[in-house]
Amino acid sequence: MADIPTSHPRRASLLSRQRLVDAAKLGLLADSALIAHGRGEAFDYLLNERTCDSARTAIREVAARLQAAEHPVISINGNTAVLAGKSLIRVAAILGCPIEVNIYYRTPERIENLLVLLKNQRQEISEEIAPKKFSGNWKSKVEAVKILGAISDGRILGLEGPRSLCSADGIGSADVILVPLEDGDRCEALIALGKQVLVIDLNPLSRTARQATVTIVDEVSRASSLLFSYIVEEKSNPTDWDNDVVLKDALEVMAQSVKRI
Ligand code: ATP
Ligand code: MG
Repeated sequence: MADIPTSHPRRASLLSRQRLVDAAKLGLLADSALIAHGRGEAFDYLLNERTCDSARTAIREVAARLQAAEHPVISINGNTAVLAGKSLIRVAAILGCPIEVNIYYRTPERIENLLVLLKNQRQEISEEIAPKKFSGNWKSKVEAVKILGAISDGRILGLEGPRSLCSADGIGSADVILVPLEDGDRCEALIALGKQVLVIDLNPLSRTARQATVTIVDEVSRASSLLFSYIVEEKSNPTDWDNDVVLKDALEVMAQSVKRI
């Protein structure tokens, strides 16, 4: 990793790849995780690896909806934990909401490995200097973030098998779920249960992106760190959201980058 010059145009992308390769070796990811990431990278290339204006608007909306929620929860899979776990733990600390490890290809070993990773990240963040604009005891706020997923005592109605499992105190009782990199089937099932589903997905054409309540078409680590800065800096109210507008705008940004050639 240290060999990539700071001026390399793909530096951030290569570092993310390396992080995922290392995590795969440690048993944190499903076999298909690197393929899923590669598909995301292709869309990010078309977005010029930058957060577009409509994605910023979507991140603000997600911040507002999480702040207005009664029982918000952040659902984290392997790729999200590796690329954006720390930012999302900071977000959870400010909101006072739980994080739930919930993965598509569920094995007890991977759940356990991800729980350990997130608990280590929580420990590191609790020792950081409190963010600017945060008032209160940062250490105790961070330490209070519950990391759920070890016990699957809830069910997502409409799904079958291991994919229907969740934590009753997390996704099971949430009204608003931030679930970066969700799968289309699960997104649909959660929406059918009347929950607000807020997603981060680089593909504006995926079923997840099209079915979610709010879609952030952006890379998960960029979007999560911006989400944190909005949540710590301002409190805003949800708007009358038209999700198709951000999906069309992201496609337009991608089309423009094709036209430039
Ligand atoms: P769906 O199930 O919603 O129809 P899919 O089956 O095409 O979508 P999945 O395999 O479920 O896709 O998930 C992979 C998708 O996750 C990629 O196509 C991409 O859009 C998204 N993705 C992957 N890595 C990232 C990332 N780092 N940031 C944001 N999105 C990502
Ligand atoms: Mg899918």
